[in-house]
Amino acid sequence: SDALVWLRRDLRDDDHAALYHALKRHTQVYVAFVFDTDILDGLKDKQDRRIEFIWESVRELKQSLQSQGGDLMVLHGQAQQEIPALAQKLNVTAVYVNKDYEPVAIARDEAVGNALVAMGKTLQLFKDQVIFEQDEIVTQTGKPYSVFTPYKNAHLAKLNAFYLEAYPVKKYLRALAKINPEPMLELEMLGFYRTNLHALRLPTGMAGAQKLLTDFLDRIDDYQEARNYPAVKGVSYLSVHLRFGTISIRQLAHAAWQLALAGNAGAATWLSELIWRDFYFQVCYHRPDLQLERQAYRLEYNALPFSNDTGWFEAWCEGRTGFPIVDAAMRQLNQTGYMHNRLRMVVASFLTKDLLIDWRWGEQYFAEKLLDFDFAANNGGWQWAASTGCDAQPYFRIFNPQSQSEKFDPQGKFIRKYVPELAALDAKRIHAPWAVASKRNSVVASPALAYPVPLVEHAIQREQALVLYKNNVKQ
Ligand code: FAD
Repeated sequence: SDALVWLRRDLRDDDHAALYHALKRHTQVYVAFVFDTDILDGLKDKQDRRIEFIWESVRELKQSLQSQGGDLMVLHGQAQQEIPALAQKLNVTAVYVNKDYEPVAIARDEAVGNALVAMGKTLQLFKDQVIFEQDEIVTQTGKPYSVFTPYKNAHLAKLNAFYLEAYPVKKYLRALAKINPEPMLELEMLGFYRTNLHALRLPTGMAGAQKLLTDFLDRIDDYQEARNYPAVKGVSYLSVHLRFGTISIRQLAHAAWQLALAGNAGAATWLSELIWRDFYFQVCYHRPDLQLERQAYRLEYNALPFSNDTGWFEAWCEGRTGFPIVDAAMRQLNQTGYMHNRLRMVVASFLTKDLLIDWRWGEQYFAEKLLDFDFAANNGGWQWAASTGCDAQPYFRIFNPQSQSEKFDPQGKFIRKYVPELAALDAKRIHAPWAVASKRNSVVASPALAYPVPLVEHAIQREQALVLYKNNVKQ
């Protein structure tokens, strides 16, 4: 019998669970991707780097499948309708997909599964996106973990070569359906337009992911230290590739795991970051209310009365809070769709604990802007920073933006790049230009003058945040 593989966030044709199983079991296998209007219609900005990234990656995948005698069928419409209709048209007996763990995606897949069953067909789902899913890592009493470190220890204890082995898709490619190749849909036909993605020199698709990995493996020894500094090329920049599945998590984890076993501390730390990713996927899976009801992970923190000043929120979004490290980070996000992990923590802490704005507002802004936006990791990161989530640290651990800046951008190199109006300040003053402005009585033609005065005073806001959390936690 024949089958259809429906790709979603797994835009590659090797080491791919659903594709592998379909090719192995069926005579002819079709492969399709849908630019889903249920998702696209919700995007406000029609210049969206993510759509361009997906479009480029789909185009590369289409060429790759064509060079192997098949094709990638690219559709534009409501996936929930298009997939059952295509399955009917192609007369396949089953549709194969890799599992998605977001509640909204689970509901979509259930609807597609039901439509297929009504036609006498099946939906076959596979684990592919994570190393361990759902209930594979639970506590001794069978409950999902709510704290990372014990989860990570259990994960590492279970990890072995079996779970990291690649699916040898290439061996079974003879079953790929031979069809007349169709031309690729143009980006503009989807109602979207080019962005500055190419100028960012972020390589797309499977080839782009492999290129970034090769580059990173040369630097992985230094990861442990270098990953903390936004001005240093210390991290992998692979998050967007993991988001859209242009590279397999098994390939990455396998490389890191082997190096870690051989004693490479950088690789061990990086593996731990990949485990954070698994951790948040399982949190999201077990707590659908996080996405469906926008609840706090710790329900007792659900209704903190944040002050939610819209003017302050706009200043934060636009990178004009008067705190150089925060502004540089937000401008990096706006200009490139990327933000360094250290800075995501700094700006998230600043929004919630200094500006006293609901973490959901920041989470939503990140969801619109981040190229690697992923509900599970983003929600997890925001709730961690707001102390409403999975964190072993209590709410009174509050980041000081100035000392974070001094510690992690000591020369001010990152600030200078994104806040050029401060470029002339020395490495000491650049972290706190308000000191310069007041010393000079705010009138001298100092570079600091073209820069906003700080919205708030950290020490005061910190006290207010402590009161807010302390007085309003429902136990
Ligand atoms: P590397 O340091 O090279 O890490 C390798 C991979 O590990 C990453 O690509 C990512 O898949 C995973 N990873 C690393 N840290 C984390 C983490 N804390 N949680 C989950 N996975 C992690 N990551 C996203 O992929 N999408 C998001 O929407 C997202 N939003 C975040 C929001 C906040 C407030 C915070 C604090 C963190 C967020 N992260 C998110 C996690 C992290 O910042 C990014 O994964 C990382 O900066 C991506 O850069 P990289 O690929 O170079 O990372």
